[in-house]
Amino acid sequence: ATPMSIMVASGRGAQAGVLFRDAAAIERLREVDTLVFDKTGTLTEGRPTLVEVRLFGCARAEALALAAAVERSSEHPLAEAIVGAAAEEGVSIPVVSGFEASVGRGVGGRVEGHDVVLGNARRMADDRVDVGGAHDFADVARTKGATVVYLAVDGRLAAAFALADALKSSTRPALRALREAGVRLVMLTGDSEATAKAVAASLPIDDVHAGASPQDKARLVRALKAGGARVAMAGDGINDAPALAAADVGIGMGNGSDIAIESASVTLLKGDLAGIVRARALSEATVRNIR
Ligand code: ADP
Ligand code: MG
Repeated sequence: ATPMSIMVASGRGAQAGVLFRDAAAIERLREVDTLVFDKTGTLTEGRPTLVEVRLFGCARAEALALAAAVERSSEHPLAEAIVGAAAEEGVSIPVVSGFEASVGRGVGGRVEGHDVVLGNARRMADDRVDVGGAHDFADVARTKGATVVYLAVDGRLAAAFALADALKSSTRPALRALREAGVRLVMLTGDSEATAKAVAASLPIDDVHAGASPQDKARLVRALKAGGARVAMAGDGINDAPALAAADVGIGMGNGSDIAIESASVTLLKGDLAGIVRARALSEATVRNIR
């Protein structure tokens, strides 16, 4: 494309809330035939709320207090939901020491003399916590598209939390438009398979990959590229940064983390996927103009 047509596209993009890092990003977007996207914060609002608690020999206020104590040091959206729920229920949040986080798994620390761990099934397996007692609760919650995290106190299951995160209103129409344009749609999430499939079931999505670590996410993008696909990856989190960098076009959500935006070549300021539809149209118009 000519410098002039690139300038015009950049200007139109900016007006529509789509920022291109460089000319190459504008030109490459029209060739994309596969869009990979994260679930939490990309398809969904990224503001989960606590919808259900199952207790195992622990009072609700105590479970919320211990969970919120470790989550207060985390920036994960699930952490905000748990701290928010504790605050809302008037639970006073104790101090944590020795806080640690395992990316895509959960968090832990010492609270009031107890070892407290909060996270998904993989995190519980790492810590040899038996979550069998919460099996039915977790199954039902995931079928509804909720995310389940477990609370372990001194190595024993104390509570299970179900958290729900609503789809952005723009998600469904944007995915439909992309599917109609012939783009293959692939969900890539760190969440559980059952939750991912439940969310994907109501949307036009071709493929679902769940339980993915940040490295798994980047690997899948590279594998799709190696198979001949032209891949755009859209994501909002630190955990998406390696995949954004690995894609032909990395698309950061403007509502997301700075690291995701820095790893991307396109930023959607409004943080919704409708921007991809607009950006592709701009790319198409720009490149066609000069031929
Ligand atoms: P996504 O790909 O959906 O954005 P992440 O990679 O951020 O997900 O996290 C994957 C999973 O790891 C979450 O669904 C959750 O089960 C667990 N997890 C990560 N961080 C935390 C945390 N601070 N508290 C509880 N669970 C967490
Ligand atoms: Mg995310």
